[in-house]
Amino acid sequence: MDRGLLFRDAPGTRVLALGNEAIARGAIEAGVQFATGYPGTPSTEIMETLIEAAPELGFVAYWSVNEKVAFDAATGASFSRARSMAIMKHVGLNVAADSLQQLKLIDIAGGFVVVSVDDPSGLSSNNEQDNRWYAKFAGLPAIEPADLSEAREMAKRAFEISEELRMPVILRSVTRLGHMTGDLELGKMEPKGQDPSFDSSRQWTPFPCLEPEGRLREKLRHAGEVLERYQFDEYQGKGSEKIGVVGAGFAFNYVQEAVDMLGLREEVALLKISTVNPLPSRIIHRLLNHVNRVLVVEDVTPFLEEAVKAEAQEIDRPIYIHGRKSGALPEVGETILDDVVLALADMVRRESPHREVPSDALPQRERMELSAATQKLIPRRQIGFCAGCSHRATYYALTKALKNVGIEDPIVVGDIGCYTLGFYPPFSILQTMTSMGASMGTSNALAQLNPSRKVIAFIGDSTFYHAGMPGLLQIAHQQRPVLVVAMDNSVTGSTGQQPHPGSWQLSDERTVIPIEDIARAFGIPHVRVVRSLQIRRLIKELEEALVLDVPAMIVSRQACVLEPGERWRERTVVAKVDAAKCDGCLVCVEEYGCPAFVASEDGEGKIAIDPLLCNGCASCRVVCPQGAIYLERLEPRK
Ligand code: SF4
Ligand code: SF4
Repeated sequence: MDRGLLFRDAPGTRVLALGNEAIARGAIEAGVQFATGYPGTPSTEIMETLIEAAPELGFVAYWSVNEKVAFDAATGASFSRARSMAIMKHVGLNVAADSLQQLKLIDIAGGFVVVSVDDPSGLSSNNEQDNRWYAKFAGLPAIEPADLSEAREMAKRAFEISEELRMPVILRSVTRLGHMTGDLELGKMEPKGQDPSFDSSRQWTPFPCLEPEGRLREKLRHAGEVLERYQFDEYQGKGSEKIGVVGAGFAFNYVQEAVDMLGLREEVALLKISTVNPLPSRIIHRLLNHVNRVLVVEDVTPFLEEAVKAEAQEIDRPIYIHGRKSGALPEVGETILDDVVLALADMVRRESPHREVPSDALPQRERMELSAATQKLIPRRQIGFCAGCSHRATYYALTKALKNVGIEDPIVVGDIGCYTLGFYPPFSILQTMTSMGASMGTSNALAQLNPSRKVIAFIGDSTFYHAGMPGLLQIAHQQRPVLVVAMDNSVTGSTGQQPHPGSWQLSDERTVIPIEDIARAFGIPHVRVVRSLQIRRLIKELEEALVLDVPAMIVSRQACVLEPGERWRERTVVAKVDAAKCDGCLVCVEEYGCPAFVASEDGEGKIAIDPLLCNGCASCRVVCPQGAIYLERLEPRK
């Protein structure tokens, strides 16, 4: 869609938007003055929308190097009375958590909204993580929209709430909401907030902490009253039903659908909970006062189920609470409709054994079996690097260099980014990977405790700036003989080519801070920069660095092949296989694995190259032992 519509003050206009765009629109309607974040699926489009809107609407929006830096920047903006937003995916809040835990104790000035988009089932993440616990842990108000309209409205109102309470407000969303597309009605754009100005007459610090800790408890009690006024939560019932179903945020959509499928509208009371912290006790009790059983539907952990169970203790009769913890719903993974329907039908049978549940509404065993059988029929495809990706060349070069210098048992440490595909064939070379930037600290310790083995740490460019630099400083300080391979493709590749301080193509020349300059400044004695696709040279540089007994860094640099516009080159050649030379040895497939390699149509087991997939990177020529791969020049584009 044309995002421009989201930037207009046209209340009542309906647009097709993503959930993430609806959140951005809510911030725009609130007159956001400062927005920053770090890219990470599933939250990226919120910042992308705000960055696009900023020049036209006259506010500040930019990508930060990590979530803590983003959070701290938004803090400075809030201290300057600006309406501020810090945006991140769920794990990003771990990075910003230290700042979050301090800022909660300080009376802020401009409204401050922290957006956390959680990723149930870890669809684009290493883990599932339920950031509602952060709200409880920090003692901060938090809200969670169920649909596009609420995403816009809650993002907008969160600024008001934050200003009234003078504390940050967490807006929790999930992947399904962020990435769903739907009809969004625009609201009115509020006039800009106060002009930024920093008040030096007060001190902006939690120190000494006991007094603000006490005030925090008081503020949180008040937050309950403030949030109740907004009526984000919704009770649907007559007050006589024996069964209740509670849906948290987006999961409430599944609740409504399941109830309708089973024809239970008249028999079941529903409760949508969008206030995450402090939980709205009054409306929860309205449900508990008349039901015998409650099913709690929510994503990731039994956060709400446990809270409802605790509230039920105050009722003087037994109430059975079902959910993820009780085993009524799967303990892990994203909420899906089939599970909710089955759990609800089961609860109805328990409560009213004679009540007929329409069997045609239940997920049919045959359909589920058919689906499972179909899954098995789908040919398994290996995930791997894009055609022409420079990371493939770097891993290939390392495998050759290791062999050439006779290192048989290296320890190879990975990090977060596209290059984690090095865990998979044909390279299968990575052995560890945990969190952003962790390869630096992990490799440092591995080198210390395994002195007879060569330790090689891979780190991507964006990850290096995000959290890799302190770990590299430690390696330099202790002069541990780790070989760091920085895979620099100039952008935050896996989230859609966002810029960072080393983005030489996307930034002003004066503001680019190359990785190698940082490494040299830190005291890494051996630093070399090589074009990734110049494989022979890369092998040589790696061979040299692998036998050193000091810290070393090879910056393997080549622009991401998906970088918009392919500014680094036009495709001028395409690779071809000379069928007369190809003997079908499959070395190209087994050792290099470019997806452009396909079976030749001659049926003799030879390889051909799909000209539509080939990006003309020319790197595979060095791979074929028969010299069968050659390049053919393409006609210049007219
Ligand atoms: S490596 Fe060369 S000879 Fe072997 S299958 Fe590939 S193109 Fe043919
Ligand atoms: S030149 Fe070779 S490695 Fe590069 S994209 Fe084409 S087939 Fe793949």
